[in-house]
Amino acid sequence: MADLDITTIDHGSAKTHLVSTAYVNWVMLQDADGVTLIDGGYPGHADAVVEGLRRVGSDLHEVQAALLTHAHVDHLGGLARIGRTTSFPVYAGDDEVAHARREYLEQADARTIGPLLYRPRVARWLAGVVRLGALDGGGIGDAQPFGDLSALPGAPVAVPAPGHTRGHTAFLAGDGEVLVSGDSLISGHPISACRGPQCLDEVFTHDVPANEESVAALAGLDAVVVMPGHGPLLSGHVSTFVEQALGRS
Ligand SMILES: [Zn+2]
Repeated sequence: MADLDITTIDHGSAKTHLVSTAYVNWVMLQDADGVTLIDGGYPGHADAVVEGLRRVGSDLHEVQAALLTHAHVDHLGGLARIGRTTSFPVYAGDDEVAHARREYLEQADARTIGPLLYRPRVARWLAGVVRLGALDGGGIGDAQPFGDLSALPGAPVAVPAPGHTRGHTAFLAGDGEVLVSGDSLISGHPISACRGPQCLDEVFTHDVPANEESVAALAGLDAVVVMPGHGPLLSGHVSTFVEQALGRS
């Protein structure tokens, strides 16, 4: 069982929970109607996804849907594995669905990561994530494009943020209080010595200028909590973190 931490923002009638592991995060939106998952870790995190639900008094039967920020294995893998035994729908952005179905793969591989293996952090990270199923090429064959998300638990709002992948999406939760930023804007990563708001290493990013453009646009939101795909929760107005991440502060 992976070690996990849960940080909860209570909005009154709904809660947004950030589930953190050493390698990647995911989010649970919870209200009286059930739970919406946003991402689900590596394949090896499938049990941890269930454990996260249990710790907030829920279970897989209460999950109404899962949303993907993007279809990289560290965000989709746990859901892909769980999906074999459950039946909630998995949604992704219009331009990410084919990626989730593995009609193509837009992800760092041996060719791109190999030259970085001299860095001890990268070598340690790779050993860890291979154990979590990083090389599992499976997707979610029945992933669907977002429809109307407003009726789902937590009433998430999709915010297109392409660049990290072509169909990457961020989400607002808690009436706009929380931004679930996925891998567009993160706050730490095992391969990075840098702590605090940042963009993910270029080796993992499909289109760096497009991602920077998306991150800059996030500054226009009114979120005061950011839950990233990697690294700890950020508490403060999103525009501050955008400036820091883009090196303009
Ligand atoms: Zn990613």
